[in-house]
Amino acid sequence: MLIRVLSEPRPGERRVALTPRGVSSLVERGHRVVLDPGAGVEAGFLDGAYAAAGAEVLGGDPPRADLVLGVGPLTAHEIGPAAAVVAFLDPLGDPEEIRRIAGAGITAIAMELIPRTTLAQSMDALSSQATVAGYEAVLVAASALPRLFPMMMTAAGTIRPSRVLVLGAGVAGLQAIATAKRLGGVVSGYDIRPAAREQIESLGVKFVGGPVTLDAEEADGYAGEVDPATRQAQQEALAAAVAESDVVITTAQVPGRRAPVLVTKEMVESMRPGAVVVDAAASTGGNCELTRPGEIVIHGAVTIHGPLDLASRGAGDASEMYSRNIISLLDHLIEDGELRIDPEDEIASACVTRGGEIVNQRVRDAVEGGI
Ligand code: NAD
Repeated sequence: MLIRVLSEPRPGERRVALTPRGVSSLVERGHRVVLDPGAGVEAGFLDGAYAAAGAEVLGGDPPRADLVLGVGPLTAHEIGPAAAVVAFLDPLGDPEEIRRIAGAGITAIAMELIPRTTLAQSMDALSSQATVAGYEAVLVAASALPRLFPMMMTAAGTIRPSRVLVLGAGVAGLQAIATAKRLGGVVSGYDIRPAAREQIESLGVKFVGGPVTLDAEEADGYAGEVDPATRQAQQEALAAAVAESDVVITTAQVPGRRAPVLVTKEMVESMRPGAVVVDAAASTGGNCELTRPGEIVIHGAVTIHGPLDLASRGAGDASEMYSRNIISLLDHLIEDGELRIDPEDEIASACVTRGGEIVNQRVRDAVEGGI
């Protein structure tokens, strides 16, 4: 197959879909890989490294590719001449663009729709990128906080450790807990799902008392929306823990919905001067009432960060993991030099457009519902 690696069009996106190591894997399997010039530079991969791995660096207009690889999201125009694309395509957030991609006759596979199953674990880019995001969220907090994380006993006196509270303990939250612990913070965590409570405790971290309910766990392991009474109980239970924290990192998300508000304006106002909130759920609206996605808000003496580029901040390793996820996916889908998507295969749920049609029911509903 002729496979093209895109230079990401979105400003601030430093990741690249395929690293030189990924190129070697595809070339070994008999594919031809072409690369937009400079596609990997911001992630630390120079064109020369791609060429050494067997890719051709494009000089002029891109040829029609059998497959385009990107991080995304991408418009049909940005994908360019192609039979198929694999990227984070935000199919539920921007179903109109998916309609245009279908109209261009492109078969689209959305990385965010890869099922979270045992078979697909090695293709699970949501998890690999959330791991980087959770780690980076703690680094944002640590550099914004006017204090240090670890306890230090020095000749100039003893410095007490910072208190870090992590709300939401999925992949990103658990990584944030582990990272904050490594930096020496005194960490506690909270999540609505009972399984997540166990995972928080298994990291040796205090679980902040708050409602935990099986009702919140849907069959697929994700959290659903909680009812107003549970939300109220949550906010009451979290108020004291937030007030005592130097850092609050929030990562709570509900797939396909706005992120739940867990930290209210009043809670922020109860925090210590200099305290920092890093809202890693900013891209879906944020868990803090005061978050402004992509911005830093200063409210009284508390700073609220709503970063949208957390995974991109660790672009080198994030790209390396994403590239491995893509190779695994292609190993599963490519047969005899062709992309084959068996509708019975569990990975088929990630295929959103094919043969000029939107083939994923949730996306079709979103387009028809005009969402
Ligand atoms: P996510 O990003 O959708 O959400 C992050 C966390 O926020 C979740 O733990 C969720 O329970 C929590 N949350 C949502 N609403 C909340 C609320 N009102 N209050 C408190 N917390 C709230 O989650 P994710 O990291 O994508 O993981 C989702 C699920 O998928 C988890 O069960 C995880 O174990 C599972 N998973 C499975 C696999 C696999 O089997 N291959 C891989 C990765 C994740």
